[in-house]
Amino acid sequence: MTEMKVLVCQEPGTLELASRPRPESRPGAVRVRIGHIGICGTDYHIYGGHQPFLSYPRVMGHELSGRAMEASVDGRIAEGDLVVVNPYLTCGTCHACTIGKPNCCENIAVLGVHTDGGMCEEIVVPQENLYPATGLTDQAAAMVEFLAIGAHGVRRARIRPGSSALIVGAGPIGLGAALFAAIEGAEVTLRDTSQARLDLARSILPPARTELVGQEAHAAYETVFDATGNIHAMNAGLQWLAHGGSYVLLSVVKADLVFADPEFHKRETTLIASRNALKEDFEHVMACIRDGRVPVEALATHETTFEDAVSNLPAWAGDRGTLVKAIIRV
Ligand SMILES: [Zn+2]
Ligand SMILES: [Zn+2]
Repeated sequence: MTEMKVLVCQEPGTLELASRPRPESRPGAVRVRIGHIGICGTDYHIYGGHQPFLSYPRVMGHELSGRAMEASVDGRIAEGDLVVVNPYLTCGTCHACTIGKPNCCENIAVLGVHTDGGMCEEIVVPQENLYPATGLTDQAAAMVEFLAIGAHGVRRARIRPGSSALIVGAGPIGLGAALFAAIEGAEVTLRDTSQARLDLARSILPPARTELVGQEAHAAYETVFDATGNIHAMNAGLQWLAHGGSYVLLSVVKADLVFADPEFHKRETTLIASRNALKEDFEHVMACIRDGRVPVEALATHETTFEDAVSNLPAWAGDRGTLVKAIIRV
């Protein structure tokens, strides 16, 4: 069989199951049979046509796990190994890459966003973008990337054990940040506009406190994370921050951040943008899953197939309800 099944977003609002040639082999790259694909907020945005700088048709999918169909030349991966795909293709030569921050490479291309991704049966990926997922289930391995986004933000924040952290936005990224902040020893509070989402978050992370937007916040938090994707929330988040604290922005929006300087300055705010994740974040997430510190089964609230994703993904794009993470089983 030279052809494979792919799920293609032909244009905003049109998702189709199609057939395409299997990818060519490339030196230094490994062929992976995709097993599980997490569906991300970004995918819903691509489908909805809300993702800037994107061309169609596009094969989405950047939260990927699968089985290596061949050994890697560097000897780290054997045929048949379960692998997690790091979907950030980087140049290796820009300033960010040379200082060990390829997550913000100047020439980054994200699989499934800027270039065709993993909603297909096979993909050929540079060997350095594959991490053996020993000890994880195939399904959990497809959740490492989205969890690594929150874990990266938490690592950037240098959380003090016993300190308080507020996570604004209880979607998947916010939940990931909350889980990893709790693992670092923070007392975590989640804030959201939806009581249903907060209830779900508490069922996944029972020690967390929750605050419904509209209720007043109870404390000045040493770290505040924004995971809302909403510019008004991002501009407002500083008010919950304790003096001396850090404000970590996980969301990316196409708008201007505006704060009153006295509010920003009087706290001596440390303002941190957090983008993508690094290899060490992927490894930290995998180690925490292995240790049973991440409730991966509770996070995987929905499952679908390639065939059903054609109708499920558009429905979920319109109403995510109590969905945390939907996974396509190939
Ligand atoms: Zn994602
Ligand atoms: Zn680079």
